[in-house]
Amino acid sequence: MTTANQSLKPITTQINDDNHIEIGGCDLVELAQQYGTPLYVYDEKTIRTIAQQYKSAFSKYPKVSMLYASKAFMTKAVVRILDEEGFGFDMVSGGEIYTASTAGADMKKCLFNGNNKSYDELQMAVELGVGLISVDNFLELTLLNEVAKSNNKTVDILLRVTPGIECHTHEYIQTGHLDSKFGFDLTQTDEAVELIIDEYKNLNLVGLHAHIGSQIFETTIYYDEVDVLLKEMGRIKTKYGLNLTHINLGGGLGIKYTESDYPPSIDEIADKIITSIHDNAPKYNVELPEIHIEPGRSIIGTSGVTLYTVGSSKQVPNGKKYVAVDGGMADNPRPSLYQAVYTAEVANRPDDKATETVTIAGRFCESGDILIKDVKMPELKEGDILCFYNTGAYGYSMSSNYNRVLKPAAVLVNNSQSDIIINRESYENLVACDVIPERLKK
Ligand SMILES: *Cc1c(COP(=O)(O)O)cnc(C)c1O
Repeated sequence: MTTANQSLKPITTQINDDNHIEIGGCDLVELAQQYGTPLYVYDEKTIRTIAQQYKSAFSKYPKVSMLYASKAFMTKAVVRILDEEGFGFDMVSGGEIYTASTAGADMKKCLFNGNNKSYDELQMAVELGVGLISVDNFLELTLLNEVAKSNNKTVDILLRVTPGIECHTHEYIQTGHLDSKFGFDLTQTDEAVELIIDEYKNLNLVGLHAHIGSQIFETTIYYDEVDVLLKEMGRIKTKYGLNLTHINLGGGLGIKYTESDYPPSIDEIADKIITSIHDNAPKYNVELPEIHIEPGRSIIGTSGVTLYTVGSSKQVPNGKKYVAVDGGMADNPRPSLYQAVYTAEVANRPDDKATETVTIAGRFCESGDILIKDVKMPELKEGDILCFYNTGAYGYSMSSNYNRVLKPAAVLVNNSQSDIIINRESYENLVACDVIPERLKK
């Protein structure tokens, strides 16, 4: 079965009678008029469908917890949707914990992860009853034990480890290779386990956590990851008599940014993981563990598009033609950060033939602020509405106020209805944290 991460567009995308693109029953040109651009548009049906496809793909395995990797895109409305779908949340900061908790997530189902959590953030996680903390390093073992002790609690933890698996993705989004800033090297886990057993009486080690990278297309990597983690569990069991019960496999499943991307389906990934558990758990003499799956990009990426309005253009004599839009690297830093490639269509005349090669530029003061290089498009005119697909993940969540440009709004569409889920920033919001010292006041 194909799953929604294999689709270039939100699953409800179609061309309507006015020859406009519509998503979730909403005409994108009308959304641009109503809410302004740039505008993030999220299709609720795509989010729920893919969440359900994850649950169904893993339903063959009895002990599975699904956590959404909040860093891909988190707002209170997204928390509500995925909480309703039964997901917990993988969180990496006090801000994400606060958002999940104030939007009513079940904190017992959540996990706190990250390579440099502060004392205050650990305190917040313990106070709010976050179910699991993935401990990344030796300093954190000390800090968390102190926090747990001062709260008179015992805290369930995973050890984040670096499994030494490399995947073929961009260097900045690889995390499982040995020379990584994340987690314990497998040569350091003994020392960590001994400290937990002998000294850190308020920490209860229940399992291991790894995350290999992002935008992964190779399914065998998940087979290997399970193998490495179960082998380590077996080794810890034999050496310390400690029965670990959980493995958290991270996220990473890729999505389709362009027609030439062929990410695997969720079923293929689930199959590799479950097969590896059945092959390897007996081999290392460990019981079938509870597994945690933490997808981010593949849950939210495909559901989101960004609408821009076309403005100025420039034909370099004997060179490129640049067409500028009203957003760019501040609302989507991925092209300039990772050379990420996107697909765009003209929302107000999607049937027009692509006749010229242009480079779509952002409005920010950097030559590197290019959204798509050398792409065939219909001749673009001022006022055209461009729809960029697959911007749902790591767009808004990595956005900035570079050039003091206001962050765009986001709307959620479903059954021909659109609702604001993030208000467009105002100039008052922009200066809300600015302070003029008394002696500089005019
Ligand atoms: C980033 C991250 C994820 C999610 O990765 P995606 O590629 O967005 O699925 C999951 N787990 C951990 C620990 C991460 O750091």
